[in-house]
Amino acid sequence: MRSQRQGRGGIFDTTLQGQKPEDSAEDLRQKKCLCGDPHRFSQCPHIIPSIRPDGWKPNPEVEKRIQRIIAKNANVRCGVKAARKHI
Ligand SMILES: [Zn+2]
Repeated sequence: MRSQRQGRGGIFDTTLQGQKPEDSAEDLRQKKCLCGDPHRFSQCPHIIPSIRPDGWKPNPEVEKRIQRIIAKNANVRCGVKAARKHI
């Protein structure tokens, strides 16, 4: 019964969930897509051309940013490759 008092920090969890950090820290917490939307690589029309809806046009600025991140970051490159394979 003693161990119950030490719990797993349930109070902290609830407190943190109530707050929404709006700074750059949230990028590390929640995995955002390279385009800035909260979806997986495999759901991103920028990364997976085959899932683009009819008439969908990429935002050139977002495209550029994605290309830059992919070129710089090997981990991201791997993730993108894996996502493309899955589709
Ligand atoms: Zn995306």
